[in-house]
Amino acid sequence: MKTVLVGVGQAGGKLTTALASFDEEMGFGAVRDALAVNTASADLQSVPFETMLIGQDRVNGHGVGGDNELGAEIMQNDIDQVMTALGNRISAETESIFVVAGLGGGTGSGGAPVLAKRLSRVYDVPVYGLGVLPGSDEGALYQVNAGRSLKTLAREADAVLLIDNDAWKESGESMSEGYEAINQNIARRVGLLLAAGEATEGVAESVVDSSEIINTLRAGGIASLGYASTPAAEEAAENISVITSTTRNAMLTGSSLPEATDAEAALLIVAGQPERLSRKGVEKARKWVETETESMQVRGGDFPIDSSRLASLVLLGGVERSDRVQRFMTRAEQAAEEAAEIDQTAREADKTFQNDELDGLF
Ligand code: GDP
Repeated sequence: MKTVLVGVGQAGGKLTTALASFDEEMGFGAVRDALAVNTASADLQSVPFETMLIGQDRVNGHGVGGDNELGAEIMQNDIDQVMTALGNRISAETESIFVVAGLGGGTGSGGAPVLAKRLSRVYDVPVYGLGVLPGSDEGALYQVNAGRSLKTLAREADAVLLIDNDAWKESGESMSEGYEAINQNIARRVGLLLAAGEATEGVAESVVDSSEIINTLRAGGIASLGYASTPAAEEAAENISVITSTTRNAMLTGSSLPEATDAEAALLIVAGQPERLSRKGVEKARKWVETETESMQVRGGDFPIDSSRLASLVLLGGVERSDRVQRFMTRAEQAAEEAAEIDQTAREADKTFQNDELDGLF
C-alpha cells in the first residue's frame, strides 16, 4: 500500500523515522514520502526527512508542553502551510495517508485529529491515524490527553491503528531504550503490513493487496496489529502447526493492543517463502482467527518474502469494544474527573482565601 506518512509531535516524528527507515532498509518502497510537523524545533533536529515547524508566533519553537488544546489550535492556525507541504507529496499513486502521533502529549495529541479531519475532507484515499497510548505508569494528564485525542482522532480518521506503550515494555530498560524498542516493533509490523499490500510476485491469487487492508479497516474506529515469526521447515506440509501457533502468538502475545481480540473484521497475512507456506496451515489459522475474534469477516492472504522464517501479521479492525480499550477510556475519564475535582478544590480554596475576614495590609 503506497503510503505518505505525517508525524506530528515528538513521538510522531520518531515513529515516522523508524517506519521510513525500516521500509528503506527492507527495500519495500511502500512508504513513498514522509513529513514531520512539530511546535518544538529541538525535536525536529534528528529527523532525516523534511520537517515543518509550526506555531512559531505562539510558542517560538519551544513546544506546547502537555497542552493539547494549544496543540490543536496551532495546527488549525497553520493548517494551510501543512496541507501545502503535503500536497507536494500526495499524488495519484498514493493509496493511504497515515497521521502518526503519541496521543498523550501536546502537539501530536492535539494536532493529529485536526490534521486528519482536514486531510479526510480534501483527499479520497483513506486517512489513518497511527496513535500511541501512554503507558499506564504515565501521569493523569497523559491519560486525559490521550482519551480526548483518541476519541476525536477515531471520529475524524478512517480508522486509528492503536499502539499501547505498555505492550512491549521490558523491565530494566530506560525510558528512551524502551521507546526505541517499541518504535522498532511498530516499524516492523506496520512496515510489513504496508509492504504486504505491495507484493506482486508469488502465488498470485492468494497474495494480499491494498484493498484488503482498506476493507478490513472499513469498519472504522480502532484497529490493532499483531505480529510473530518462527523458523520454518523446508517442506510446506511440515509447517501447518508452525503457521497456526505463529498466528496465535501474533494475536495473543504480539499485538500492538494486548487483550483486544473482539473485532469486527480481520486480515491474516502469512509471510514467508511460497514453497514453505502450507495452504492448509493458512486456512486453519484463518479459521482460528474467525473463532477468536467472533467475526465473520476474516480475510487472508500471503506475503511472499525470501526468509527461512514464517511470520503472521494479524490486523484487527473495529476493536473499540474490547476490554483493553474500554479500560483505557475509563482510566482517562477517571483522570479527567479527578483533575476537575482538584481544580474545583483549588478554586474554592482560592475563594476562601480571598474572602477571609482578615483585612489586607493595603
Ligand atoms: P508531543 O511532542 O507534544 O506531541 O508529545 P510526545 O510526542 O512527546 O507525546 C508524549 C506521549 O508519547 C507520551 O505518552 C509518551 O509515552 C509517548 N512517546 C514519546 N516518545 C515516544 C517514542 O519515541 N515512542 C513511543 N512509542 N512513544 C513515545
